[in-house]
Amino acid sequence: MNCPLCGSIDTGKVSTNQYYCWNCLVEFNMGGPNGFTAYNVDEEGTLVAINALQPSQAGEEQLTLEI
Ligand SMILES: [Zn+2]
Repeated sequence: MNCPLCGSIDTGKVSTNQYYCWNCLVEFNMGGPNGFTAYNVDEEGTLVAINALQPSQAGEEQLTLEI
C-alpha cells in the first residue's frame, strides 16, 4: 500500500483498510469522497481527519503537509 499523500511505500497496516504512513506520520484509510481519508494522531492518540482541519484557513482545496 502506497501512501496516498506522499506516495511512500513506508506504510504499515493498522487494521482492516487502515494504514499508517511513517513518512507523513498520519493514519489513513481508503474510501470516501476523496478516495482516502487521512488523520493526524495527536498526543492522546485521537485521530483528527486532515480533510476536516479548518478548511477556511487552507485557502485552496489542497492538502498541505510539510514533509
Ligand atoms: Zn505519506
